[in-house]
Amino acid sequence: MSAARGRREPPRFRAVAVRHVERRSPRLVRVTLGGPELDGLTIDQPAASVRLLLPPLETDAPVVPTWNGNEFLLPDGHRPTIRTFTPRRSDPEALELDVEIVVHGGGAASTWADAAAPDAQAAISGPGRGYTVDAGAPAFFLGGDETAIPAISQLLEVLPAATPVQVRIEVAHPDARLELPDHPRADVEWCELASGATPGEALVTTIGDAALDPGTRVWVAGEAAAVQRVRRHLFEERGLPRAQASVRGYWKHGRSGDDDA
Ligand SMILES: Cc1cc2nc3c(=O)[nH]c(=O)nc-3n(C[C@H](O)[C@H](O)[C@H](O)COP(=O)(O)OP(=O)(O)OC[C@H]3O[C@@H](n4cnc5c(N)ncnc54)[C@H](O)[C@@H]3O)c2cc1C
Repeated sequence: MSAARGRREPPRFRAVAVRHVERRSPRLVRVTLGGPELDGLTIDQPAASVRLLLPPLETDAPVVPTWNGNEFLLPDGHRPTIRTFTPRRSDPEALELDVEIVVHGGGAASTWADAAAPDAQAAISGPGRGYTVDAGAPAFFLGGDETAIPAISQLLEVLPAATPVQVRIEVAHPDARLELPDHPRADVEWCELASGATPGEALVTTIGDAALDPGTRVWVAGEAAAVQRVRRHLFEERGLPRAQASVRGYWKHGRSGDDDA
């Protein structure tokens, strides 16, 4: 597409290296990235996003792409491998940033995270917009699939302790369950996706069954087609005011993140 269309250029890529890798569950890998170029990267909202630039296959270091006014491209004209993740923890003193990546069995980021080891190189750009918590809300509902576990964990850390929070998380495998941060009023349910079911099916069902008191703030993220069904349910069937909900597609079933680069 021509540069004349002019999308706003995302923040620059900052070179980082893997400092530490931790399995949070057999399905989720926490990768601590660090390096001097993280200086000045500020993340002040929960459930924000960063773009992770990965090295091309069979190479060690990412090639920093240039913005052509519409998309990032490598010098050879190919699209770089860029995926979006939640900055789960950032430590401006230590110049570190954690991302937690679902190991789902395919895809560049999943494969990279599964094999990640200290000193592996990558780059980070961001942050992208996060969630503004309405501290006066009477209740919260947090829903998502495994890709939303990092954001839901962050939200549980910052939501007011006195406010009730329903948490519903769809997992494709039972071993994707993990310990979430404590919230004194949280009611957590893990919903297992039946074998062969379409991603998001269990999440859509549990949201359909949820009792939402008036004024409840709803945050949902997961597979794009599933969250589209969630939007229709919330806004058209329940008549939930749009201002009370944040519903975001995090990935597309059957489509690689490369297609959206
Ligand atoms: C704002 C935002 C925040 C996000 N935060 C996180 C996060 O913290 N952790 C995280 O893991 N993901 C997160 N995601 C989702 C992540 O960007 C996608 O899952 C991404 O497609 C993974 O890249 P990949 O290279 O592993 O797979 P891709 O190359 O993009 O896809 C390859 C194949 O795998 C499928 N696929 C992709 N993701 C999944 C999945 N999770 N489960 C099953 N199949 C999948 C695709 O449909 C495709 O068929 C976030 C997305 C957004 C927009």
